[in-house]
Amino acid sequence: MIRRLLLYLSSADWTKRALTRFSFARRTALRFVAGETMDDAIQATRALEQHGLLATLDYLGESVLEEADTRAVVATYQALVERIQREGLKASVSLKLTHLGLDISEDLCKDNLRAILKAAQACNVHVTIDMESSAYTEKTLRIFRAMRDTFKFDNVGIVIQAYLRRSEQDMRELAAEGAHVRLCKGAYLEPPEVAFPKKDDVDASFVRLMRAFLNAPPPAYLCIATHDENMIAAAEAAFRDFEVPPERYEFQMLYGVRPARQRELAQSGYKVRIYVPFGEAWYPYFMRRLAERPANLWFFVRALVGR
Ligand SMILES: Cc1cc2nc3c(=O)[nH]c(=O)nc-3n(C[C@H](O)[C@H](O)[C@H](O)COP(=O)(O)OP(=O)(O)OC[C@H]3O[C@@H](n4cnc5c(N)ncnc54)[C@H](O)[C@@H]3O)c2cc1C
Repeated sequence: MIRRLLLYLSSADWTKRALTRFSFARRTALRFVAGETMDDAIQATRALEQHGLLATLDYLGESVLEEADTRAVVATYQALVERIQREGLKASVSLKLTHLGLDISEDLCKDNLRAILKAAQACNVHVTIDMESSAYTEKTLRIFRAMRDTFKFDNVGIVIQAYLRRSEQDMRELAAEGAHVRLCKGAYLEPPEVAFPKKDDVDASFVRLMRAFLNAPPPAYLCIATHDENMIAAAEAAFRDFEVPPERYEFQMLYGVRPARQRELAQSGYKVRIYVPFGEAWYPYFMRRLAERPANLWFFVRALVGR
């Protein structure tokens, strides 16, 4: 119930307008966000690298409806990949297609993405296309394949959500294509016809998809994006069962979620990448983090009471 309510509120304009006015809400959101500027994100990346962790930097924003705004997003990503290279960081970047104008037109979105991928390729930076709600799954897969197959970018990856009923087929195809895939559970409000409503079914799907993908021939590469101890244990079992070499996978977690476990995994020899969001448009991202773990609401309530 609480999860569904928070996910509904994550896309509701009235709560966004009300909450983002308060500095306590901003302070609480900063638990999951590196800060509002690129400098904040670069600083967080440096700190992570000092602990043996890698970063993927996400300039926060989604559902942009003005073309001029999407051009500004492209300019920010271009500056970001140049900064990553100039500072000698090992970071990649992540982005959302509705931040690049997918709600305006698919052609505009593709032009914007090509401009970012070109700059990123010149700077030797990998780009992952985040997956948004199921309304965008088909388009996102189509655009990913166009970038890779038509425009020949080899620095692009995609996300698959284990909660979607269609993902088994998508993962099978992506494995055969040798794609670079991030597997996560899925963070949006979806109807039961489209996504498994029960956590047990989502977890079982995650394990099934992960095992099948890890058993696929190279160059398929899997980013295992989870904080769930059972999923981590299932991944380790799959590495052993299929003798998967470490060049074929990495773990990924979110900035501010289980930081001690992030360091522990890196210390035990795994490649671990942290998703580091930055920017002013933190509201929907923050609400999805609250929805994932209603206990996080207490941080929010404490900040509200203590302000
Ligand atoms: C690197 C990365 C990229 C992602 N990209 C996408 C994407 O493109 N599209 C998409 O739909 N989703 C994305 N997600 C979110 C993902 O779909 C899940 O919603 C999120 O990771 C929670 O699922 P979980 O696997 O950690 O398992 P859960 O079963 O949700 O959580 C397992 C345990 O992890 C801890 N935990 C999980 N979430 C939190 C939190 N927010 N705060 C504190 N503790 C928590 C708790 O201890 C919890 O018991 C991404 C996640 C990661 C890690």
